[in-house]
Amino acid sequence: MTARIIDGRAVAAALRAEIAARVAGLGFQPGLAVVLVGDDPASAVYVRNKDRAAGAVGLAARTLRLAAATSQAELLAVVRTLNDDPAVDGILVQMPLPRQIDSTAILDAIDPAKDVDGLHPLNAGLLAAGRPGLAPCTPRGVMKLLEHAGIGLRGARAVVLGRSVLVGRPMAALLTAADATVTLAHSRTRDLADECRRADIVVAAVGRPGMVAGDWVRPGATVIDVGINRGADGKLVGDADFAACAAVAGAITPVPGGVGPMTIACLLENTVLAAVARRRG
Ligand code: NDP
Repeated sequence: MTARIIDGRAVAAALRAEIAARVAGLGFQPGLAVVLVGDDPASAVYVRNKDRAAGAVGLAARTLRLAAATSQAELLAVVRTLNDDPAVDGILVQMPLPRQIDSTAILDAIDPAKDVDGLHPLNAGLLAAGRPGLAPCTPRGVMKLLEHAGIGLRGARAVVLGRSVLVGRPMAALLTAADATVTLAHSRTRDLADECRRADIVVAAVGRPGMVAGDWVRPGATVIDVGINRGADGKLVGDADFAACAAVAGAITPVPGGVGPMTIACLLENTVLAAVARRRG
């Protein structure tokens, strides 16, 4: 079998077009503020892409660039100013933060109604309770890819590899809410290959290049590769051995061009959702 490739770039482009149309009809311009502390080159690229994508769908995007030596108190003051700014509907503080800053304290300080990354404990709690709130962008993007690809979730066996607050845990919560039977695996899981072989859907979010081997995948299963790793040759590779998995899977996302583009599109969508919800009161 050769898997169907799920084209994240195309799905994300369609979602961005929908968002742009919605923004054009709102009668106001939702605002997204992105905060970048320091000069990590990868973070600078992510932030630039977010800023551009936000502008392209008609959001009022601004990036606040702070020095690497910014103190926790200074960053907290910036977050509070953005919380109080009525023109700002979404706040995103780009991670990782410099070592002198406690990221948890910063995430906790963001107004949950403006928490477009979905990482505030209130939003994480709402998601865990199966209640509406702002959910993290990458797992939301995965759900949209599964829906677009017509992958049935009700009663399906799903395995999520990785239990981070950013990806794995919210991914498991969203799949559970969609009636999948979910196993959340991690570095202490006894037999990862065996867990994967029983799954209809494997979502890999571990940050280990090519870890999911072809013989971990049940023929016809769906493989969603969240991993973004830089190979020895400088090229981006995912957490799945793409060629080997594509030979047995029914559907698979590539890296790059799979989950990655969906993350930014879902950030834009979260900003619109937050803007509309805040104005509704
Ligand atoms: P973290 O490092 O926060 O979490 C990694 C998770 O994987 C942990 O739960 C860890 O287990 C688990 N893990 C690590 N090694 C193994 C192993 N050998 N076997 C089983 N489980 C393992 O990473 P993130 O969740 O932030 O990101 C994961 C990947 O997704 C990265 O490659 C990242 O770059 C990518 N990513 C991609 C995004 C996109 O837009 N496409 C967005 C965000 C992330 P334990 O908890 O036991 O330590």
